[in-house]
Amino acid sequence: MSDRKFMLTDTMSRGLKALEPVEPGHLKFYSCGPTVYNLAHIGNFRTFITADLVVRTAEALGWKVSYVSNITDVGHLTQDDVADATGEDKMAAALRAKGQEFANVWDLARFYADAFIDDWRKLNLREPLVRPRATEHMREQIQAVDQLVKSGHAYATPSGVYFRLSSFPEHGKLSGNVDKEQLQVGVRDVVVDDNKEHPGDFALWKQDDKHLMQWFSPWGWGFPGWHIECSAMAMKYLGETLDLHAGGEDLVFPHHESEIAQSECLTGKTFSNHWIHTRFLVVDGEKMSKSKGNFYTVRDLVEDRGQDPIALRFALMATPYNKPLNFTMQSLSDAGKNVERFRECRRVAESTLDRPGSADISQELDRIYGEALDAMCDDLNTSVALARALEGTGVIFRDQSRLGGESSKIALEYLDRIEELLGICPSSQVEERSFEAELELDMILRSELKAAKKFDEADAIRLKWLDQGVELRDTPEGTIWKLVQS
Ligand SMILES: [Zn+2]
Repeated sequence: MSDRKFMLTDTMSRGLKALEPVEPGHLKFYSCGPTVYNLAHIGNFRTFITADLVVRTAEALGWKVSYVSNITDVGHLTQDDVADATGEDKMAAALRAKGQEFANVWDLARFYADAFIDDWRKLNLREPLVRPRATEHMREQIQAVDQLVKSGHAYATPSGVYFRLSSFPEHGKLSGNVDKEQLQVGVRDVVVDDNKEHPGDFALWKQDDKHLMQWFSPWGWGFPGWHIECSAMAMKYLGETLDLHAGGEDLVFPHHESEIAQSECLTGKTFSNHWIHTRFLVVDGEKMSKSKGNFYTVRDLVEDRGQDPIALRFALMATPYNKPLNFTMQSLSDAGKNVERFRECRRVAESTLDRPGSADISQELDRIYGEALDAMCDDLNTSVALARALEGTGVIFRDQSRLGGESSKIALEYLDRIEELLGICPSSQVEERSFEAELELDMILRSELKAAKKFDEADAIRLKWLDQGVELRDTPEGTIWKLVQS
């Protein structure tokens, strides 16, 4: 295990703090997943990439990582920016809007969850240990609500079960949103439940026997609140205290604030020792919106526009997570060039494996990798880490003509380590070179070897191709090739 410290900004203490798993070397990490009522956009994926980079960095430090990222498929209401969310279930609203396309709300949930996982894999994100779905954890949620009622932290009304804010004086500690009288500010058309003790008391369970997705509970037919889902699933798989909890910055309040209140009232323990939040993404300097035509899903870019998903990943991590990211088509194109550089580097290393080499790049690449890891441990400083990673490809290209055998292996190991850490140069992405391209590369290499007076090595290349029925012939105009007549 590395003795490096993994520093991450902590939303709770509002400063940089070393991430320290309670069980040394074993990170228990929960990251809020999507609500599957539509396709996740690239801003959502920026947040999931942050979680992925936490996992990769922790693993690079030699830690074991228990990573859980959920799927919300019920209970997330349309007006979710206030303490007690109101409006319609996003799933039901989506079914109403797209009714023709889906048989029912379950069909819609399955379609968007599958699409999400598909995009996740395209962007080369690590699979979580568990990807729990809210609809499959109803027993745990109902038990949690029941326990909160029994311990006096929640109460039932004819419309549902509500968390009693007054029972948790620390409410607001994550977001700083402590003025309970202000918790409903910004609400339009609030349906006031006169039975609630305080307008900010939020729903743990909604009573609704007309809801498209409903379960039977001690309070009748209904469905859970969005916040209790995450508390129940996180604690089921990771225990009462998490080492780290992550999400987008829009989740600080009320979602994460509410998760803390519920969980800490259930266990009497700190819910998570560390909190990180990814900043927002804008496109061409403006908030993404469908009406402005600057709203992108992964599919829009990868399937409709033929963009490389690894280039998209690179572009989404080019700015560190704790700064707003301005995404532009130019940034995607620049990322594509960088990703292609890694691929070319891998081709060079692979194609030189079988020949003798004399490049001495081991120490230099070790140092560069170490600096990339240092940057990741410095609050996931991806812009520095990516620059270091590219510096390594410069070393490999510089010594290209002397690569071979052991040194080619060292170059490939470097690329594999960078892939493990940053996910930007997967080996499966390297397509086989065509016969012509391979020959072209070898002819260049052979002339470089001849210029360096390494005639034996140059001749080995000639003989290799002759074996395959290709004759290389030197002419005053340069080397040409022709197929040997058999
Ligand atoms: Zn959540």
